[in-house]
Amino acid sequence: MPTKEQCPCYSGETYSECCQPYHEGKLPPNALKLMRSRFAAYALNIPKYLIATTHPASPQYNPNHELWSKRIAEFSSITTFSNLEILGFIEQGSFAIVTFVAHLAQQDQTTIYTERSYFERIDGRWLYRNGQMADGRDPTLAPPDKIRLLPMAYYGNPILKRVADPIEEITDEIIQLVQDMKETMDSFEAIGIAAPQIHKSIRLFIIRQPVRDPEGVTEPHSIKVFINPELTLPSHKTCVVSEGCLSIPGVRSEVERPREITVEYTDLDGSRTTQRFFGWDARVIQHENDHIDGILFPSRLTDEKQKDLEAYLQGLQHRLEDK
Ligand SMILES: [Zn+2]
Ligand SMILES: [Zn+2]
Repeated sequence: MPTKEQCPCYSGETYSECCQPYHEGKLPPNALKLMRSRFAAYALNIPKYLIATTHPASPQYNPNHELWSKRIAEFSSITTFSNLEILGFIEQGSFAIVTFVAHLAQQDQTTIYTERSYFERIDGRWLYRNGQMADGRDPTLAPPDKIRLLPMAYYGNPILKRVADPIEEITDEIIQLVQDMKETMDSFEAIGIAAPQIHKSIRLFIIRQPVRDPEGVTEPHSIKVFINPELTLPSHKTCVVSEGCLSIPGVRSEVERPREITVEYTDLDGSRTTQRFFGWDARVIQHENDHIDGILFPSRLTDEKQKDLEAYLQGLQHRLEDK
């Protein structure tokens, strides 16, 4: 591409004055420049740049770089990147959010989508973590006024193996922490998060059941908070369900657990309740409760399945420690 041409990130500047230096190794000063330079890298088919600027814990991260490069190259080669609009950008501490509207075309089919993308700065470098997408131009995905994200603890972090401490008192800090955990969970569109996953070794987790309305739009339920939970009376009947974990990105596996469970727990207002849970709730509660007991889902797998995961988990730990 001749350097006199417009940058494919639609900044209006020339490529040589805009994204080219980043593609050649200069570090983008902020997540917005990184976002633009990644868009331009898709347009110019530079998989190497996209791989190098993806967070090692991103759900998009593929340990097989050759295959990943090939997929990006295929996508780039059949796609025309016809416009980019930025709907909002906020940066706070080591997190940033950029919302953009991308206009693409594939085989005369035009696609417009909005993405709220999350970035994290690790060792001075901004990296793309993940994104939430919607069809068309969707201003509801614009960034919030304030970022309340907490850094995650990932596979290999000793805090995930520790038995967490009981919570003595529901302080304002705990109430704020629950709010921040909710924002963090929602940024991944996740259904549960436990305190050890955000580096707090305390007996607390939250869950949120997603609901799909007939039009297929996911309307989230309000969150449910569990403080100092005690699980008893697991049913003899078990079921096998595919589970994933925010602390072990990029992998899912079938886990067998009791279908029903009784939970005695304290709510955020301090009231202690005992309740029987079934199905979806019982599943997520048992997964999250394992976190506060220092247990990760791979240790609930059959020996055979654990063996299948071994290489992936080692690779994951390695690339997360490298950063
Ligand atoms: Zn550019
Ligand atoms: Zn988990």
